[in-house]
Amino acid sequence: MIKKLITLMTFSASVLISSHQVMALDVPKVNAVKVANGIHMLTGKGGNVGVFIGKDGTFVIDDQFAPMTPKLMEKIKSLGGDTPKFLVNTHFHGDHTGGNENFGKKGTMIVSHENVRERLQKGYEIAAFNNKTPPAPAVALPVITYSNKMHFHINTENVNLIHVSNAHTDGDTFIHFKNANVIHAGDLFFNGFYPFIDGGNGGSVKGLIDAVDTMLSVSNDKTQIIPGHGPLANKKDLMAYRDMLKTAYSNLLKLKKQGLTADQAKAKKPLAELDKAWSGGIFKTDKWIDVVYPAVN
Ligand SMILES: [Zn+2]
Repeated sequence: MIKKLITLMTFSASVLISSHQVMALDVPKVNAVKVANGIHMLTGKGGNVGVFIGKDGTFVIDDQFAPMTPKLMEKIKSLGGDTPKFLVNTHFHGDHTGGNENFGKKGTMIVSHENVRERLQKGYEIAAFNNKTPPAPAVALPVITYSNKMHFHINTENVNLIHVSNAHTDGDTFIHFKNANVIHAGDLFFNGFYPFIDGGNGGSVKGLIDAVDTMLSVSNDKTQIIPGHGPLANKKDLMAYRDMLKTAYSNLLKLKKQGLTADQAKAKKPLAELDKAWSGGIFKTDKWIDVVYPAVN
C-alpha cells in the first residue's frame, strides 16, 4: 500500500515538477538498479538518477528534489562512491535539479547546457502546471556550461554530453557512455507513458521526435537506456516510444492545421489507437492533449 502510494505520488504531475510542494512529503527509499560496471540507475522521487563510480571519482546525472540528497548520498556511498566530482543536469526542471544547492555546497561541479543555467538563474514558470520557481541561489547553478557537445574522459570511459535543440525543453542533454553502451536520456524519454513536453520553455513534439532519433542513431540492440521517468529501457522500448510520438504528432498536427482548438481536437479522439498502451502514467489522454497541443508545430 505504502509502495503504491509513493508510486502514485511520483507520477502525479505536480510532484513531477514542483520542488516546493514536495518539501512536505515523505522522502522515499532510494533503490539502485545496476546498468553496467560502475553505472547504476537510482530511483526515489523525481527523475531517474544516473551514477557512474570509478577510480577517478563519482559522476552523477540529475539529483531529484532537495530532500532526497541525503538518501541519494547514502546509496552512492553504499555503491562505493563518494561526494560527486561532477553532476550533470539533463535539463532545468525541479525534479531533476532540486538537489543542486546541496551538491553545490559540497563542492560538486555542476554541468549543464547553457540554457539550463540561464533558466535556473532567472527562475521559470511552467504554465501547464501553474508552477513558478524563483531564481536559484548561485551555489545551485551549473558552473560549467556547454552549447553543443561536451566530452568527459573519466573512469576509463568516454562520456559524451549531447545537446538536442527544442525537444522536452530548450536545454536538453542526453548522456552517452560510449564504452559501456549506456544512455541517460533525461526527460527526452518517459518509458511507457505519455511524456511531459514543456512547450512554454522551448519544448516541441517535432524536436522531441528528432532527439529520440538522434539517441537511436547511437544505440544498438545491447544499449541500455536510463529514461527520465519509468523503468530501465532498451532500444526497442525507445523505438516504440518514437513511433507513439510520431503517430500522436501527425494526428494532432492534422487537426491543428484545420484550425481546431485543443478542446475541439479532443472531441475527435485523435489518439484512440495509442491510449490503451500509453495513458497509464502521468497523463490521461485529454490532459496530455492539453499539455502537448501548444508544442505541436
Ligand atoms: Zn522534465
